Amino acid sequence: MEIDYLFSWLKIRKSKPASRISPRTLTLLQSLLQDLKSKGKPYNFVGSSHSYNGIQLVDDNVAVIFDSNDLKNISYNYDTQEVTVEAAVTIEELKRFLRPLGRQLLSSGNFMKQRVIGALMTGTHGYGVENVIMADSITAITLLDEDGVPHTLTAKDDEDILKYVRVSLGYLGVVFSLTLKTKENEQFEVTQQIFPLSQFLEKLAEYGDKAHAMTMFPYSDRNDPYIGFISLEKLDRYKKPAPADMANALVTAVSWFIITVVWKLNAQLPFFQAFLQTLIGRFAPSVEPEVIVTSPDDLDYLYDYHPMLENERNPSIPRRILSSTYTAYNVAVFIPKSNLPELLSFLFDLAQKLKNTNPRQYFRNSIGVRYVGKSEKCALAGNYEQDSYSVDLFFSKTDLELAERVQDMIAEKFKIRPHWGKTILKPEVIENINPEALKEFSELREKYNPSNLLQPNLGGIKFHCV
Ligand SMILES: Cc1cc2nc3c(=O)[nH]c(=O)nc-3n(C[C@H](O)[C@H](O)[C@H](O)COP(=O)(O)OP(=O)(O)OC[C@H]3O[C@@H](n4cnc5c(N)ncnc54)[C@H](O)[C@@H]3O)c2cc1C
Repeated sequence: MEIDYLFSWLKIRKSKPASRISPRTLTLLQSLLQDLKSKGKPYNFVGSSHSYNGIQLVDDNVAVIFDSNDLKNISYNYDTQEVTVEAAVTIEELKRFLRPLGRQLLSSGNFMKQRVIGALMTGTHGYGVENVIMADSITAITLLDEDGVPHTLTAKDDEDILKYVRVSLGYLGVVFSLTLKTKENEQFEVTQQIFPLSQFLEKLAEYGDKAHAMTMFPYSDRNDPYIGFISLEKLDRYKKPAPADMANALVTAVSWFIITVVWKLNAQLPFFQAFLQTLIGRFAPSVEPEVIVTSPDDLDYLYDYHPMLENERNPSIPRRILSSTYTAYNVAVFIPKSNLPELLSFLFDLAQKLKNTNPRQYFRNSIGVRYVGKSEKCALAGNYEQDSYSVDLFFSKTDLELAERVQDMIAEKFKIRPHWGKTILKPEVIENINPEALKEFSELREKYNPSNLLQPNLGGIKFHCV
C-alpha cells in the first residue's frame, strides 16, 4: 500500500499525517474547525510545505492544505495602495497581480512558489534596511480561532495583538486572509564585488548602513578567504537596464546539462566544493567590481536587469552552480549586527576544522549572509528590535546531524534567534527572545486555541515556559 507522506522541500523531511483535507470555502473551513474540535482531533496548516525545518510536518495530525485552485482571491485598494490576499495565493501570483499596477511587495524571499501566508508565518525575508521581514508589511489579518470564529485585527486598532500574529508560526490560529502594504516598482543600482576577508571591515564601514548581502567562500583561500558582496542603491529616476537575454531552448538545455553535472559532482564528491571554491579564490583577484541597473519589472528579489522571473530565461551557469536552492539543506539563524565579523571568522575556521577532522564533512556550498535590519512590527521575528543579519548555512541533504551540530556550536558562542522556517527547532532556540514577548504570545494562544489541538511542529518548544 502506498504511504501518503507529506514532504518538505527537496524531500528532506517527511511526516505521515492522519489525513489531508482542503476546505474550499470559508464556510467549509469553519465547519472543519468545529468538527475537529468536537472530535478532539489534532491538526495543523500547511502552505507549500517548503519550510526546511519541518514546522509544517506533523505525524498523525490532520494536515489542512488549501487546494491550489480555491481561496485565491486578490484585491487591490487604490486609496490605501494595499493588497488583500486569501490563504492559497502564492508569492508569484501576488507579484504577477501587482506588476501591471506598477506596484510591488516591500520585501520578499528569493523563491516565488511559496504561499504568501506560509512565508509570512515563519518570518521569511529578503535583505535591506527597513521592512525586510515580509510580514512587516501586514496591515490587517483575519484569523480564525479554534471554533472557526473570525477575528480581523488591524494595525490601526489592534497593533498590540497584530505584532504577535504577523509571524505566528501557524500556532495562534488559521489565517484566512491578510492585507499588505505595497510600494511603487523600484529600480536599483547594484554593485557586485568580490574581496578577501582582510578587507571586510573596511567594506563594511563603507556599505554597512545600506542594503547589502554576502556570499562567503570559506574554502577559496586558506589564509584570506573571499567574500562576494552586493549592495543596493535605490535610483530616484528611471535608468535603462542592460538589454535582457532572450531565452533560447538550446542554450537553456545545454546550460542545464552543465549545471546538473556540476551539482551531481558536488553531491557525490566531498572535496568538490573545496575545489570549486579554490577556483573562485584563484580568479577573484582579477574580477573588477560591476554595477548593474535593475529592471523595474524584475519579479524575483535577485535585483536583476532582466524583467520577470529568473526561471523564464536562460539560466546563469555560475549563479546556478553557486546557488544551493536546488541541492542543499538550509539552516539559518539571526545574529546581532555587531557580532558579524566575529561570526565570519568563526565560520571560516569551522569550515577548515570540519574538513580536516573528517574529509567528508564540508559546508556544501557558500555561506549566505543577509543584512535584515530591525523589525519593529513582528515580535517573534529574529530581528525584532535588534539590528541583525540572517546567516544561511548549507549542508548535504543527508547530513542533518552535522547541520544540527553546527547550529549548536554557533548557538553556544552567539546570541542566535530563530528563522522559523529554517532553524532546527528545539527548546533552546527561544532563549534569546524577550521573555515578555513569549508570555504575550502564549497568552494569545490560550485566547484563540485553548484546546491545544492546533499543533505545528515546534520541536518541543513550549512558549508558556516564562
Ligand atoms: C527554495 C527555498 C528558498 C527560500 N528562500 C527564502 C528566503 O529567501 N528568505 C527566507 O527568509 N526564507 C526562505 N525560505 C524559507 C521559506 O520562505 C519559509 O520556510 C516559508 O515559510 C515557506 O512557505 P510555505 O508556503 O511553504 O509554508 P509551509 O512550510 O507549508 O508552512 C510554514 C508555516 O506556515 C503555517 N501556515 C501555513 N498556512 C497557514 C495558514 N493559512 N494560517 C496559519 N498558518 C499557516 C504552517 O503551519 C507552518 O507553520 C526558502 C525556502 C525554500 C524551500
